[in-house]
Amino acid sequence: MVDMLAGYPEIKDEVEASVKNVFNKANFILGEEVNKFEKEFASFNGAKYAVGVANGTDALRLAIIACGIKKGDEVITTPFTFIATSETISQAQGVPVFADINPATYNLDPEDAERKITSKTKAILPVHLYGHPAEMDKIMELAQKHNLKVIEDCAQSFTAKYKLGGNDWKYTGTMGNCGTYSFFPAKNLGAFGDGGMITTNDENIYNELKALRNHGSKEQYIHDMEGYNSRLDTVQAAILSIKLKHIGKWTEQRNNIAEKYNLALKNIANVPLTPENCKHSFNYYTIKFADRETRDKVQKHLSANEIANNIYYPIALHRQKAYAHLGIKSLPVCENVQNTVLSLPMYPELSDEQIKIITDCVKEGIHDIAAKK
Ligand SMILES: *Cc1c(COP(=O)(O)O)cnc(C)c1O
Repeated sequence: MVDMLAGYPEIKDEVEASVKNVFNKANFILGEEVNKFEKEFASFNGAKYAVGVANGTDALRLAIIACGIKKGDEVITTPFTFIATSETISQAQGVPVFADINPATYNLDPEDAERKITSKTKAILPVHLYGHPAEMDKIMELAQKHNLKVIEDCAQSFTAKYKLGGNDWKYTGTMGNCGTYSFFPAKNLGAFGDGGMITTNDENIYNELKALRNHGSKEQYIHDMEGYNSRLDTVQAAILSIKLKHIGKWTEQRNNIAEKYNLALKNIANVPLTPENCKHSFNYYTIKFADRETRDKVQKHLSANEIANNIYYPIALHRQKAYAHLGIKSLPVCENVQNTVLSLPMYPELSDEQIKIITDCVKEGIHDIAAKK
């Protein structure tokens, strides 16, 4: 799905020099490169603060705790996401409450989210899935009306933007109380290992997060509370600082590739929406077919021709054994979407020739033409 090495030659010298520099200083834990990258990351997003953590899952867990979620508190989220989104709610002793999704954007449906609000609801956790911003106007309105915290899962949406209130372009992750990010290698800003970040504009949350990631201590060996060992590695921070300088161009390349895909596929599948008020970051390029049979047929054809493809996500979370205890009967939109979507290879260096081979193969799959090879 991603050619991890395609973009490496361009940054190799700089990356290797930065890593050597950390090796020579041996400031591996919370070295100055972490602080520097946090400042750069916050500034890029237009957030006041950023806190580097060990991975995107910890970013979620620490943000949920810092937002004050306590035992039994309900957090409304989408079932159409990676399990990190919901397992971290449970790990903070909260209860994930799944609402259905929007059939066009595959993101949390604010109307169904409102129906799921109870006296125990404390937060909403939207995911900007594939890099498509969730409906933040409605989500923020709900949060205000019901006094809820908002934690945005931006693991797939770094560089995606949303026009808040119809006129104010904001990066995803800067509209709610916290934005959480993953630097897993296959994300839009990928580390050479694991890494994560939380952004916030709230000074109290910021101070809480800094303590939480480092055993609850604000000063060495002084613990007002328990915390975790979840710090962003200095080596990863040094590498990410260099990659961050290229992210604008890489996002543009992703968007150009998506446009080419759209052009080739729009008559045979639902291609990703790009509404006026959203700028997509295309971590994944995902199309949707009329029915499961067509999707499965196309997928088989791609695989038979050794073209990478994947389903994000084949079994929605409310249908997983891990959540059987929640006793959720059905979220019909989500169940239809999980059975009809398919993601195609997406990374900035994907060539026109590769796009043509991939899209031709999708078309062949639909028309039941035997593989060329
Ligand atoms: C990748 C991902 C995460 C988890 O990030 P890690 O860095 O792998 O822990 C969380 N939420 C979503 C939506 C993701 O795609």
